[in-house]
Amino acid sequence: MMLEGLSIALIVMHFITPSIYYVIARGWLRLSSKTGSRDGLTTEPPFVSIIIPTYNEAKVITQKLSNIYLQDYPRDRFEVIIVDSGSTDGTMDLIREWVKGHGDINVRVIEEGVRMGKAHALNTALRNAKGDIIVITDADSTWLRDSLRNAVTWLVNDCVGAVSCNKVPRTNKDVETEYRNYYGLLRIAESRKFSSAIFHGELAAFKRDLLEKIGGFPTDLGADDSHTAGLISMMGYRAIIPEDVKCIEYVPSKGYWTWRIRRAQHLIQHFLRFLRYVLIDGRDLPRDYRQIMLYESYLHLVNPWLFVVGLVLIIISAIHGALIPIALLLIGAALLVIKIFRTWVMTQVILVAAAIRNLWNKE
Ligand code: GDP
Ligand code: MN
Repeated sequence: MMLEGLSIALIVMHFITPSIYYVIARGWLRLSSKTGSRDGLTTEPPFVSIIIPTYNEAKVITQKLSNIYLQDYPRDRFEVIIVDSGSTDGTMDLIREWVKGHGDINVRVIEEGVRMGKAHALNTALRNAKGDIIVITDADSTWLRDSLRNAVTWLVNDCVGAVSCNKVPRTNKDVETEYRNYYGLLRIAESRKFSSAIFHGELAAFKRDLLEKIGGFPTDLGADDSHTAGLISMMGYRAIIPEDVKCIEYVPSKGYWTWRIRRAQHLIQHFLRFLRYVLIDGRDLPRDYRQIMLYESYLHLVNPWLFVVGLVLIIISAIHGALIPIALLLIGAALLVIKIFRTWVMTQVILVAAAIRNLWNKE
């Protein structure tokens, strides 16, 4: 009986907290984006360095470069820096060929002999970049035509230190899209309040002087994009995802689950490190940012466990013949036909799996 009560309490709590956060976030959406408002690119557009780190990206690199080539941003106001870390699949040949055919765009290629990770590659590029604005972008993603211009326009504001993008799923499965909308809404809402808790490597733009102040991209944890934005927020600048900056992400079909778990691990590392700053190092953060990060840390680090532990306890109670747990299991199983619910459940399981894997593998 006690087991039964506990298991139900855990499950109820698991669903209530994100619901409350969702309602709060909807409230933030009504905030005007005054402090983050766009001043517009009235003066000469700032010079931008777009950094693409590549490791074996032969399948996508040509398309990636062409996508950047077609950006609605003056071509003499940006440079592209590719840092390749010893690709073995012909990526470099494809890049050279593409560059030969496009003389009217400034592309530089840096070859790192050995592979030392993405963040290391980004820092190598940063040292060679000329721009006041640094944009990093994964090779396996594309932008809309106005993504760069819109991102830079937001960055012109003094209080904004970093800008990232909304992810548009490449597939048009509508329920999958709805689920993304939930996360997308949180990102935009948090940005209205202060800063997004999470940044995306598909497009992350930073003010160069701030990047230098924090010592470049962090190489000691996976979420180089989110954590860089976090460090900038901790200095009091906003790191936002505005509605009008979008990117398209390619979701791998092979190795999908490993990919999801690795990504979840990066977020877990990001939030754990943040908690260390706040709880152990006692660092002072902007109040709104602290609130956002505490909520998100809870949702990523603690809340998934309530679900998994609650579920196990419910199953145990059900095996012992308790009626309410049996009914709950049946209802839960029936709800799995709803894709949003299924995706939610999957995500909780992935977060728990990632937390466990993170104990011995920090990749
Ligand atoms: P995921 O999307 O999180 O699975 O990460 P990816 O494997 O797609 O990597 C993101 C970007 O970083 C891609 O453009 C990769 O080619 C690039 N990348 C990953 N590892 C390295 C590396 O060691 N060196 C360099 N230069 N780029 C890397
Ligand atoms: Mn990728």
